[in-house]
Amino acid sequence: MSEQDCIFCKITNGQIESEMLYRNDNIFVIRDINPKAPVHLLIIPSQHITSLVSSGAHQTSNFGQMLVVAEKMARKERVEVSGYRLILNQGPDSGQDLVHIHLHLLGGHRLTSM
Ligand code: AMP
Ligand code: ZN
Repeated sequence: MSEQDCIFCKITNGQIESEMLYRNDNIFVIRDINPKAPVHLLIIPSQHITSLVSSGAHQTSNFGQMLVVAEKMARKERVEVSGYRLILNQGPDSGQDLVHIHLHLLGGHRLTSM
């Protein structure tokens, strides 16, 4: 999928409207349109990174920032004490739908154990 067809690229450049819960120069956060838990956020790099495999060492900073932003958002959503789960789907077996890398933050109720 090219950047032109990518939903997350369209959201970051304003072609698709979505409420930004947080945004900095590299990362933005939206609510998942089809939530699987009371709190279900998507933490997304603004850059169209398609896979962990192809991303390389130069993306390390983006991935680190995604985790820092996840922790910030957990506090904002008041699930930092009750707990939450971070998921990054990668490839067909994971059920990954959108090839622009993103982190799911799930919380707000007891999640089934893995
Ligand atoms: P994944 O299966 O990890 O690729 O997750 C993609 C997620 O993006 C799914 O949970 C979808 O519900 C979510 N999603 C798709 N389109 C939108 C959108 N326009 N706004 C917010 N979330 C979306
Ligand atoms: Zn994209």
